[in-house]
Amino acid sequence: MTEISRRKFAKSLGIGLGATSILPLVSFSTDKPVDHNAKKLNIALCGLGRYANLLKHGVTESEYCNLAGIITGTPSKAVKWQADYNIPDKNIYNYENYDQLIDNPDIDLVYVVLPNSMHKEYTIRAAKAGKHVIVEKPMALTEKDCQEMIAVCKSEGVQLALGYRLHYEPNHLEIKRLGQEKVFGDVRLIEASLGYSLSNIDPNDWHLKKSLSGGGPLMNLGVYCVQVSRYVLGEEPIAVTAQFGPVNLPHLKSEVEESITWQLEFPGGAVCTSSATTNSNIDRFYAAAEKGAFELSPAVSYGPFVGKSSNGPFDFPVINQQAAQLDGIAKFILENKDVPNHISGEEGRKDLKIIEAIYKAAESGVRVDIK
Ligand code: NAD
Repeated sequence: MTEISRRKFAKSLGIGLGATSILPLVSFSTDKPVDHNAKKLNIALCGLGRYANLLKHGVTESEYCNLAGIITGTPSKAVKWQADYNIPDKNIYNYENYDQLIDNPDIDLVYVVLPNSMHKEYTIRAAKAGKHVIVEKPMALTEKDCQEMIAVCKSEGVQLALGYRLHYEPNHLEIKRLGQEKVFGDVRLIEASLGYSLSNIDPNDWHLKKSLSGGGPLMNLGVYCVQVSRYVLGEEPIAVTAQFGPVNLPHLKSEVEESITWQLEFPGGAVCTSSATTNSNIDRFYAAAEKGAFELSPAVSYGPFVGKSSNGPFDFPVINQQAAQLDGIAKFILENKDVPNHISGEEGRKDLKIIEAIYKAAESGVRVDIK
């Protein structure tokens, strides 16, 4: 980054220049700065639920993105969002006229923030309308669906990125560096768990319906634990054992698992043990290496994260994770470059392959090889 763009980026993160010494960790990893006076990436959010309400602040606080449109099945939401964000009528769609995006040059990218089972259809329809796509996690319900999404985006010549916000978060960039650069030697054991208590959730919520969610906390939360183990080790797991937990919230009549624990084995000899649950709150990452350890807790939520290693506490700025992620992806698309592998559709596919193996291991009770 040039000094000017470092300063601009520091400003966008809300941190002073004194803190810019950590900025290389937050690098966008492309060489040439983009002239953003010329063009911003015009984004339409598809699905205006809880997470879209966070993402909208990410878009408006981003440097390179513009909230240009919305796709919603709820007319009252359209009215409110239109008024709040000055969205023209022609950029407001519903699920029926969604394909007409093909005639709208003022939208570059659709960000799919729908229930998991809808990710595939709305990604493919956006791609066929000639729009780039960011799709939320988990990418789809199966690895096969991910392959289809990747193939359609490729044949339509559009970019497909995942909503993996942690790849732009400085604490996560640090644990990735500590692990992959073997700063404390080989990482031998990782514990990475995430859970939120859903005891007060509406029993009709889609998270509890298998046809919409595809699964329970493994799909929605465990995907982060799988991700973090992969990017800290820089390796792909080779086998897994897994166990479903007991049902502590029977009143929810959930169609999906309430909790699940698994052990991923990596080729270098490391093991990552994780739990994902919807019956209690847990949000932690711990890596034990040959000559030291490093950890984050909270580790995955929207922060602020607290981290330390055997060398002392972490001291990174609190950032708007969604804005950083959107800018990180936008920069590549604005430069007509492929989005980097670690946030591409391929990355989502790899996670789904592992998730399917974890479910298979929990259902069968036997160790499953991941090929
Ligand atoms: P939500 O229930 O709050 O919102 C879902 C939206 O989809 C709503 O606007 C709803 O009206 C719409 N919708 C359309 N058809 C629907 C149907 N048949 N059933 C239910 N809703 C329907 O969900 P959310 O928490 O915003 O999650 C949306 C996606 O975002 C999920 O894939 C989730 O995993 C992901 N997410 C990501 C993060 C993150 O940090 N990256 C955080 C939360 C959620």
